[in-house]
Amino acid sequence: MKKLVLFFTLLALAAAPVKAQKVCAHRGYWQCQEAGYAQNSIASLKAAQEAGFWGSEFDVHLTADSVVVVNHDPSIAGIPIHTSTYRQLLGARLPNGETIPTLNEYLHQGAKSACMMVLEVKPQDTVEATLELTRRCVWQLRAHGLLDPERVMFISFSYDACKWIAANLPGFGNQYLEGVVEPEQIHADGINGIDYNWVAFHKHADWVERAHALGLTVNVWTVDSPEEMKYLKDLGVDVITTNRPDLAVELSN
Ligand code: MG
Repeated sequence: MKKLVLFFTLLALAAAPVKAQKVCAHRGYWQCQEAGYAQNSIASLKAAQEAGFWGSEFDVHLTADSVVVVNHDPSIAGIPIHTSTYRQLLGARLPNGETIPTLNEYLHQGAKSACMMVLEVKPQDTVEATLELTRRCVWQLRAHGLLDPERVMFISFSYDACKWIAANLPGFGNQYLEGVVEPEQIHADGINGIDYNWVAFHKHADWVERAHALGLTVNVWTVDSPEEMKYLKDLGVDVITTNRPDLAVELSN
């Protein structure tokens, strides 16, 4: 009898699906400078799509004339984005020669593959400006046929932006980035995931299990060494965001 139980247990384990770790490229697919990609450039997004990543993360800001642009920092080549018009930003160039992409241009490329668009709503100078940015992102995603939980998810350091998305787009991935709010509070506020720096998980390893018990997804940024990678894989996080193509290959194995 014991042998029979063991046999069926082993059979069940063999049949259980292996949980695939999802890999997300950070800021398009940067730190691939040898190939000439700049962070948050259309070229870097295209590279992430062609490399077959599950997702590609990118950052958005709002110009003074309400154009949504894709950039990590609140300035480009010393020109502040929030107080400049889009036209004024055209004088600057990314390291690979592109002008700063508008969200519209970026989504045009994004719509060309199944790669998940992981859209980071950057906090603006005021909460109202951050929510205005969020609303404009939603309009543009809809215009490109990307307002679909299978095609886009949202992340933000702005708790207000996360709460707005929870209220208006409840079926969409929506993850808070700050690394200081416990899973139970995130869940109580209707936000459905956490995307914390791996150091936060190092300090609070129990948060992964607690988040999963509440149905939250757990993502981690930015994982750039084999040691961090192994630690987080063992913790069972859902998505790992990385700058390192070699680690991405390891992850998918
Ligand atoms: Mg980002």
